[in-house]
Amino acid sequence: MSRVTGGDGPGETTEIGRDAADAAAFRALPSVTDLVRAARTRGAALDDAALTAVARDRLDEQRAAIRAGARPARATVEAGVAAAITAIERPRLAPVLNATGVIVHTNLGRSPVSAETAAAMAAAAGGYVPLELEPETNERGGRMGEIARLMRLLTGAEATLVVNNCAAAVLLVLSAVAAGRGVVVSRGEAVEIGGGFRVPDVLRQSGAALVEVGTTNRTYARDYAEATDETTAAYLKIHPSNFRILGFVHAASAAELADLGRPRGIPVLEDVGSGALLDTARYGLAAEPTLAESLAAGASVAMASGDKLLGGPQAGIIVGEATWVDRVARHPLARAVRADKTCLAGTAATLRHYARGEAELKIPVWRMIAAPADAVRRRAEALAAALTALGVAASVEPSAATVGGGSLPGECLESFAVALDGASVGADEEGLARRLRVGDPGVYGRIERGKLLLDQRTVLPEEDEALARAVVAAVREQGG
Ligand SMILES: *Cc1c(COP(=O)(O)O)cnc(C)c1O
Repeated sequence: MSRVTGGDGPGETTEIGRDAADAAAFRALPSVTDLVRAARTRGAALDDAALTAVARDRLDEQRAAIRAGARPARATVEAGVAAAITAIERPRLAPVLNATGVIVHTNLGRSPVSAETAAAMAAAAGGYVPLELEPETNERGGRMGEIARLMRLLTGAEATLVVNNCAAAVLLVLSAVAAGRGVVVSRGEAVEIGGGFRVPDVLRQSGAALVEVGTTNRTYARDYAEATDETTAAYLKIHPSNFRILGFVHAASAAELADLGRPRGIPVLEDVGSGALLDTARYGLAAEPTLAESLAAGASVAMASGDKLLGGPQAGIIVGEATWVDRVARHPLARAVRADKTCLAGTAATLRHYARGEAELKIPVWRMIAAPADAVRRRAEALAAALTALGVAASVEPSAATVGGGSLPGECLESFAVALDGASVGADEEGLARRLRVGDPGVYGRIERGKLLLDQRTVLPEEDEALARAVVAAVREQGG
């Protein structure tokens, strides 16, 4: 492959010269054996086959870089291998502290579950559970019994099915109820709910035809009535979780649509989104629709996420009339999106908190929502004082926390944040924020007006000490 293309001036590198130089750089690379031995000396826990594969990958990358003109130092190559090994050995999904002020933070894994829920999930994961057996009779039973009993208590639902997430719930319900037929949806609700989840696409995927009615801002029950014919399988309502249209707006209620559909045997299917089982209005927030309200209004099937305001593990909750829920459960897709034993154990443990009336005391997202602003301020002041005493300049600033997770857009909860001024610790805020994120535990705050804010509302009181220690460690590392 060597072509002579240069060499007309002194000091110019010819392609032949480049090839020779490349060959020298290749020879200067450490061997796989050297790299594996060095990793072993540093105490790597991976076995020889894994270390060899990592070393080979890095060497391949370095050879490509050499061909592109790079001349990597031996130490750089060794450090690259060490970093690649650490990236495999160190668990990525270790818990971090959420000081962003966003309660249901999708990028941080949505809702943390209660201690009791986490314990139930760990116990179910680590052992066998009578998932599909009735202990009394040793006969085969459904996996939904426990959750169905709890849901009936909490929402009045005749039947419940739990699947992987709410997106799966909507896809499954539409597939089972409406494939090959029409589903009437308000133009104002044919929306994008989250990344990659668009109502028209989900409908198409289910094999149902979207029949859009009304306008973006106003849709009436009569619009649904006019669009109804013998091909109509259902009326679908989607809660516009993550945006709000203000002003001249109207939506047909689930109750109106249920009245319209009942004589024709057309069910109302409602995706309420956040899965709130408590009334958000009690905490000065706008009211989020609940599963119980949706069913009481006459929806045949209501759906929600398990890991937003319900505060449980990731799940899609399907509740409603037994004839419809059973039909959904029998659809082949149900098997493809079913929930596992840890999800079911965790969902049941979370629902039991509601049944005992202790959601505000036990479920993290509700503890955060219900915390009085005064208590949040006092904890922020204590943290700022503790940091200041340890030589880290910190002050308390008013803040506005949000529910997040695509619920209650524009709604804020009064909060307080500890503000760290990057300059006072010899760094810019971005650098300080990075140090905090990569610490152990990692801490995620937000940058506002040139300051790093640690919002106290999304940190639980039992995490305050860990937060203080993590901040001090990050700042010290910065200075040193
Ligand atoms: C969040 C949301 C979904 C998606 O829920 P996942 O559990 O993330 O699949 C669907 N519909 C509505 C209305 C939502 O708010």
